[in-house]
Amino acid sequence: MALMTSEEYLQSLGKMKPTVYVDGERVGNFVDHPLIRPAINITAKMYAMAQDPDYEGVLNTTSHLTGRKISRFNHIYQSTEDLQRALSMLRVTNQAVGACNMRCLTKELINPLYDTTFEIDRECGTDYHRRFKDYLIFLQDDDRMASAGVTDAKGDRRLRPSKQFDPDLYLRMVDKNEKGIIVRGAKMHQTGALTAHYLNVVPTTILDEDEKDYAVAFATPSDAPGLIHVFGRHALDERRYTGADLGNIKYDMHETMIIFNDLFVPWERVFMCGEYRFTGPLVENFIANHRYSYGGCRPGTFDVLIGAAKLIAEYNGIDRASHVREKLTEMSFLNETMWACAVAAAVQGVKKPSGWYQPDKLLANVTKLHVTSIPHELGKLAIDLAGGIVATLPSEKNLNNPEIGPLVRKYLRTKAELPVEDRMRIIRLIEFLVQGVTIPADYFGGGGPATQKMIIERETNFEYKKRLAKIIAGITEEDSENKAGKMMIDGVVAGCCDAYGRESCPLTQRS
Ligand SMILES: Cc1cc2nc3c(=O)[nH]c(=O)nc-3n(C[C@H](O)[C@H](O)[C@H](O)COP(=O)(O)OP(=O)(O)OC[C@H]3O[C@@H](n4cnc5c(N)ncnc54)[C@H](O)[C@@H]3O)c2cc1C
Repeated sequence: MALMTSEEYLQSLGKMKPTVYVDGERVGNFVDHPLIRPAINITAKMYAMAQDPDYEGVLNTTSHLTGRKISRFNHIYQSTEDLQRALSMLRVTNQAVGACNMRCLTKELINPLYDTTFEIDRECGTDYHRRFKDYLIFLQDDDRMASAGVTDAKGDRRLRPSKQFDPDLYLRMVDKNEKGIIVRGAKMHQTGALTAHYLNVVPTTILDEDEKDYAVAFATPSDAPGLIHVFGRHALDERRYTGADLGNIKYDMHETMIIFNDLFVPWERVFMCGEYRFTGPLVENFIANHRYSYGGCRPGTFDVLIGAAKLIAEYNGIDRASHVREKLTEMSFLNETMWACAVAAAVQGVKKPSGWYQPDKLLANVTKLHVTSIPHELGKLAIDLAGGIVATLPSEKNLNNPEIGPLVRKYLRTKAELPVEDRMRIIRLIEFLVQGVTIPADYFGGGGPATQKMIIERETNFEYKKRLAKIIAGITEEDSENKAGKMMIDGVVAGCCDAYGRESCPLTQRS
C-alpha cells in the first residue's frame, strides 16, 4: 500500500473502536471529540506533509527491509545521516503544528526494539527479531502509526516492581498459553495513544531475575479488547469545548492513561517474554533514541514561540529596543543549543551489530537535560516581551458584544494599522505555548533531569580526565594511551565513533 493521505488516515481511525473515557464518560465517536480531535489534526497533518513534494526525502524514505517507500517515522536508522534526517523531520513537523508532532512515537520504540530483539535472538536462539521485522513491515507497508508504551504506574517509587503492595503497578504477564500471553497493568501519559493504530509496549525499567513476568515487550492494536484509554486533561483545554480563546486553533497534544485489563497478545506480536537481562539494553536503546529526538522536535515548537515573541514585540512597538533584541537573540541562542546537541548526538551515532545506528548516549542525555531547563527560560523571555496581558487577556467573545466590543477593541489596540484580532491571537498563542502542556511535557517527557544526570555521570570517563590533569600538573608522564590530541585528530578524520567504536571514542573517552 502507498503512503496514506490525510483523508485515508482519518478514515482508518474512523474504523477503529477503542474504549475511551473522557471526564468519567465513555466516548463513542472519539475522532470528533473536541478534546481529542486537535491531536488527530496533528497526525493528519503529518500524513499530509508526507505527500507534499517539498518534504520528499524528509518525511519519507526507503525501507531497508523491503526497498519500498515508507514514512521516515517508521524507519530504522541505517546511518548517521538517517539520524540527522530524522532530526530535520522532527523540527519541520513541530514547526508546522506548534506542538508535538505525535507521530514520532512510532520511531521511538521500533528502533530500540529492532536492535534488542536481534540481540536476544543472538544469545538465546529465540525468534523475536523475525517476528518484529514482520510486524515492522506491516507497519511500514500499511503506513500505520504506533504509540510508545513505556511508563508504568510505578506505585511507591522506592520499591522494585515485585515489591509493590499491588503487583500490577508495573505491567506484567499474568498468564500464557499456546496462543499468546495475557498482560495486566497500566501505562501512563501515553502521547498520541488515540491518534495511533497500534501501541508498542516495553518495560519501563531494568529488571531482575525475580521479575521475569515484568520483562515483556509486545505490540497491540490501540482498540484491542482489554485496553482502556482514560483521557488526560491539560491546562486551558476546557476552551476546546466552546472553540473560543484558543491559542492554537487546530492543534494540541493528548495523552491517555492506558489500562491493560487482562489484554491478550498473540505470540506473533510478542518481542520479549521473560528475558530480563535484555531489559537493560532495551531501556538504554530507548533512552538514547528518545532523548536525542527532543533536540529535533522541541526547537521546532520553539521556533513558533520565538516568532510569536518577535511579532508581539513589533505589535507593541518595542522591537528596536536593545534589551528586546538581546532577549530575542537569547531565545534563538538557547533554541539552537538544544538543536546543536541533538545534531552532535546524531553525527556521533554508533552502528550496532544489528545494523541499527544508536545516537550517542552521552550527547543524547546532554540534549534532553537542556530540554528540561531551556524551555522554561524561553517561556520566561516570551512572557517578558508580551507583558502582563499574556496572563489576563479578556475573551475574544467580548469583541462581539455591541456594548463593550468597541471599548475592548479600542483599549487593546496598539497601532492604527494593526487589527486587534491579530494582536490577541499572538498573545493567545504565547499563552498556549507557555502555559499549556508544552513546557511541563518537556520537563518529564523522556524522563526528568535526575535520570539524565545519572547517565551523564556514568558515561563520563572521569579516570581519563584525571589522567589528563595529572599530566598537565606534572604528576605523571604522558604515555601513548594519553595522546588524546592525536586520537582526536584521527577520530575526526576517520569519522570518530564509526572508526573507533563507542568504547574508545577519541573525542570523549567514554568508559
Ligand atoms: C506530556 C507528557 C507526555 C509523555 N508521553 C509519554 C509516552 O508517550 N509514553 C510513555 O511511556 N511515557 C510518556 N511520558 C512519561 C514520562 O516519560 C514520565 O513522566 C517520566 O519518565 C517521569 O516519570 P513519572 O512521571 O512517573 O515521574 P516520577 O518518576 O515519579 O518522578 C517524580 C520525581 O520523583 C523522583 N523519583 C522517582 N523515583 C525515585 C526514586 N526511586 N527515588 C528518589 N526519587 C525518585 C524523580 O527524580 C522526580 O523528581 C510522558 C510524560 C509527559 C509529561
